Amino acid sequence: MLSPAPTLADARGRIKHKLRLSLTDRCNLRCVYCMPEEPKWLPREQLLGADEILRLARLFVTELGIRDIRLTGGEPLLRAEVVEIVARLNALRPRGLERIAMTSNGIRLPQWAAELRAAGLDDLNVSLDAFTPETFRRLTGGEVAPVLRGIEAARAAGLPVKINSVILRGHNEDEVLPLVRWAVAENLTLRFIEFMPLDGRGYWNAERVVREDEILARLQPHYAITPEPPTDDPAHYYDLDGHYRLGMISTISKPFCRRCDRVRLCSTGTLYACLFSASGADLRTPLRAGADDAALKETIRRHVWHKEAGYAERPGYVERPITMHVMGG
Ligand code: SAM
Ligand code: SF4
Repeated sequence: MLSPAPTLADARGRIKHKLRLSLTDRCNLRCVYCMPEEPKWLPREQLLGADEILRLARLFVTELGIRDIRLTGGEPLLRAEVVEIVARLNALRPRGLERIAMTSNGIRLPQWAAELRAAGLDDLNVSLDAFTPETFRRLTGGEVAPVLRGIEAARAAGLPVKINSVILRGHNEDEVLPLVRWAVAENLTLRFIEFMPLDGRGYWNAERVVREDEILARLQPHYAITPEPPTDDPAHYYDLDGHYRLGMISTISKPFCRRCDRVRLCSTGTLYACLFSASGADLRTPLRAGADDAALKETIRRHVWHKEAGYAERPGYVERPITMHVMGG
C-alpha cells in the first residue's frame, strides 16, 4: 500500500505547501518600509550555512510536503553561494519540489540571471516602487536604473518576472499610474502590496497605508477595471481593459490569513509560522547540536500546529526583535 503524502498542517486546518527561505539579512538598499534606519547586520556565525539550509530544505520537501520554495532576504543575491543553493534545491525536484522562486531587488541580476536560470530557478519577483529617480532614492536609498537593468537581464535570460510595488502615502502615490502604464507596455505582471507594520523603525501607521481601494480609484479614470474571481493566490487580480492582469496583495484591508499555505525560515534558522508571529522556533541550535531528522521534524510540526490565526485577528504593530529584512518578506 502507498504511504500517505507528507503534510505540514496547523490546528486551523491550513496545509503548508510553501516555504519562504531567507538567505541573508544583508541588503544593498535601505527601504523605509522594511529596515531600521541603521540596521545592525547579524554576525555571520548566526546565519545558516549553505549545507544547513539544504539540510532543512530537504526535510521540508521530502518529509513535510513543501512543494514551493521562494528564496528571499534581505537581498538574496548578496549571498555568495546563491547559485549553488539554487542548483542543490533543483536536485530536490524528483523528491517533490515543484518550484524554486526568488524575490529580489534586482540590482545584482545582470551578474546572476543566466546562471540562476541554468541552475534551476523558475521565476522571480522584483521589487520596484517608483520610476522617478528621486522618489526611488527617498524610498530605498538607492538608484532605480540598476533595478531596471536587472529586470531586463532576467527577461533576457528567460526568467519570468513579476513586479512588486509597495505604495506609501507621502512617498510614491504618484507612481501608481506610471508603474501600471509601464507594466502594461512591458507585459509584466505588477502586484501592489499594502504597507505592513513590519518596518522596525516605527514608520508604519494606518494613515501611511495606501489601500487597494484607493489604488483602484486612482486607476479608474484610465482603465476599465473588472475583478477576477478569487483563487487561492494571496494576490487577487483585476482585468484592465480586457487585456492586462493587475494584482493586489492587500494584507491590511483584505487579509487572506484563512487561506495561508506558507511558513518562513529566516536566515538565522528560526522558523516563523506567520509573517506576523511574535516568536519562532529555533532550528539552528538543535541542527548544530546534531539533532536527527525526526527530532527536527517534530519541532517544525509542533511549531506550525500552533500557528496563530494571523493579521486579521491581531492587527497593528508586531512587537518582536526582528523586522522584515531579517524575517524574509
Ligand atoms: N530584497 C528583496 C526585495 O526587496 O524584493 C527581497 C526581500 S523583501 C523583504 C521582500 C518583499 O517584501 C519586497 O517585495 C518588499 O517590497 C516587501 N516588503 C518589505 N517590507 C514590507 C512592508 N513593511 N510591507 C509590505 N511589503 C514589504
Ligand atoms: Fe532590502 Fe528588499 Fe528590504 Fe528593500 S525591501 S531594504 S531591497 S530587503
